[in-house]
Amino acid sequence: MTDDTPRTDGGGAAIEAQGVELTYADGTEAVKGIDLTVPEGEFFGFLGPNGAGKTTTIKTFATLLSPTGGSITVNGFDVYEEPRKIRETIGYMAQETSVDEELTARENIRFAAQAYGVPKRQRADRIDELLDLVDLADVADKEAGEFSGGMKKRLDAATALVHQPPLVFLDEPTTGLDPKARNRLWEYFERINERGTTLFLTTQYLEEADQLCERISVILDGEIVATGSPMELKRRVGGEILDVEIPAGDEARERAAEIAREGDVFDADADVARSEDGITVTAERAREHGTDLLVALRDAGITVTGFNIRAPTLDDVFLAITGEELDSEDRSADAATVTEPEVSAE
Ligand code: ATP
Repeated sequence: MTDDTPRTDGGGAAIEAQGVELTYADGTEAVKGIDLTVPEGEFFGFLGPNGAGKTTTIKTFATLLSPTGGSITVNGFDVYEEPRKIRETIGYMAQETSVDEELTARENIRFAAQAYGVPKRQRADRIDELLDLVDLADVADKEAGEFSGGMKKRLDAATALVHQPPLVFLDEPTTGLDPKARNRLWEYFERINERGTTLFLTTQYLEEADQLCERISVILDGEIVATGSPMELKRRVGGEILDVEIPAGDEARERAAEIAREGDVFDADADVARSEDGITVTAERAREHGTDLLVALRDAGITVTGFNIRAPTLDDVFLAITGEELDSEDRSADAATVTEPEVSAE
């Protein structure tokens, strides 16, 4: 065991953080006392809206920023005492891709292998293996400048893995990708995690955290407001969600909300809210009682054109925990930014 071997033995914590604070020089308190433990091998999600403090946190873990308070060990190394060892034992995929567009995919990975000190005799095999892993073998000798956004992200992920780090940070890796490219990237992350690599992913896409992560912490204004598995977090919403579409205007919708609240259709702690096109009821056993509501609405002369019962999504969780919805305009604008066709190998 060399001195740089991570001081963990397969059962330890990849990240152990206590009371982490980071206040920028201008006084912005971006991270305000975060406690976090990520066990080795976990696919961990750090979920929050723009400006919540995700990037700042990831940069303190990756030793690119020095915390102004608290303690952090990463792979068993202390951020203040042993930052070099941390950098050698982590991969970091930043929000902005760092591929060199004038180099081919293979050259980009080779460059990273040199920079990370991968022994020369191992390089060729390692590069081929990574090109395969991210499905870029067919375009290995094309310049990265010709690649689509999704391909560049995959190449970026490959370069972050070149020194076989046991822990990889992915900072909003799919922001700006179209759904197809995003799905492909998800597959690679799952593959990497299945090989035993711990993944720490920041995202503002709730479905991404839901799909990929074993455990999630929700961060808001520099503080963790909830932690749990996607299922546990969904349970916090407290029941199923019933969306009722009512075409007639505000008055009918308001009346429908009153009926749902006042009748003895649902349990007393059911939550009834107006939605864009009707009402939404969150309640235990909403499925069972939904038809009773329909009957009550019909008796009141209110026309219903749509009726849907669903399990809560993480969007509902976020709303339940924080009282705020994620800014969907922001997210759809992001999602529309990279849609150019992939070069090949698709
Ligand atoms: P995003 O999704 O937009 O990247 P985030 O959750 O990663 O958001 P951070 O980038 O960590 O959030 O930002 C947290 C807060 O710190 C924000 O209020 C941001 O404006 C502020 N901030 C970030 N970088 C700096 C800096 N260099 N100096 C001062 N304030 C900063």
